[in-house]
Amino acid sequence: MSASTLPAAPELPGWTHLSSGKVRDVYTPAATSPWAGRDVLLIVASDRISAYDHVLPTPVPDKGKVLTALSAWWFEQLDDIVPSHILSLDVPDAVAGRAMICRRLTMHPVECVVRGYLTGSGLVEYRRSRTVCGIALPEGLAEASRLPEPIFTPAAKAELGGHDENIPFSRVVAMVGEEPAAALRGISLALYARAAEIALERGIILADTKFEFGAGPAGGLVLGDEVLTPDSSRFWPADQWIPGRVTPSFDKQYVRDWLTSPASGWDRGGDQEPPALPDDVVERTRSRYLEAYERLTGRPLELS
Ligand code: ATP
Ligand code: MG
Repeated sequence: MSASTLPAAPELPGWTHLSSGKVRDVYTPAATSPWAGRDVLLIVASDRISAYDHVLPTPVPDKGKVLTALSAWWFEQLDDIVPSHILSLDVPDAVAGRAMICRRLTMHPVECVVRGYLTGSGLVEYRRSRTVCGIALPEGLAEASRLPEPIFTPAAKAELGGHDENIPFSRVVAMVGEEPAAALRGISLALYARAAEIALERGIILADTKFEFGAGPAGGLVLGDEVLTPDSSRFWPADQWIPGRVTPSFDKQYVRDWLTSPASGWDRGGDQEPPALPDDVVERTRSRYLEAYERLTGRPLELS
């Protein structure tokens, strides 16, 4: 699905649709809203799922609720490191549980990725140059190796449909200035350390994750977007981690496996949009999202 074919964002009383990304629909307060005149956004997480840079035509029921509830939970765990954009979960009934009212931020155009383990685009760069985002790493690392210490590996945000591009820290400095760049790195590493520790206590390895920050009205960094969800992170079941082997990802394993299997009839390298997902793939994926929430927070997600 491309940007032009995303389903229409729902009409919500008191809110005016502003924009839609791969997963989220964003609204500003209408004149009739109690939030009118405030610099806030309503961010609604849909049930859309993306894989291999495509938004798939089949939604995963309740996924948006998992993303919203999990982000809200993490914002609380991390609040003493950096403030977040969340203001309220009191949202229109039609999007209850899947939306939050947030401070509207001027977003830094940098995806603040932190990696504790080597995989994905990090591994590709490592194999080519023994670096990730220009950071030199020791020899002998392989797929899923734990890094000597977590590293900040920023990426430039791509337009809808494009690939994010790994960039060296010097590019971040050129984009946002020296002090903000150092703050983005320092805070991202601190957030990762806290979150990785919490996750590991619950049997989940936080292999890597992505944060997005904006500048608040006072200029300081504010944590925005979603945080530490299966969509923005690689969660690995700790008991299935074998260095040297691909660890099955917590959430999209079934989707990716099916899409790349002959059963889907889809050519990942071609220009066709991916096909609809079979019911069992949807159901298993949904369970995985709910399980990630439950394992991390220690309680089942209340679905109403
Ligand atoms: P993906 O995350 O899959 O790359 P996307 O980034 O295109 O998708 P969504 O996550 O669907 O988009 O939509 C959220 C959008 O809102 C992002 O562009 C994000 O940077 C932006 N955003 C998040 N929080 C705030 C905020 N507090 N103020 C302004 N913009 C925000
Ligand atoms: Mg996003």
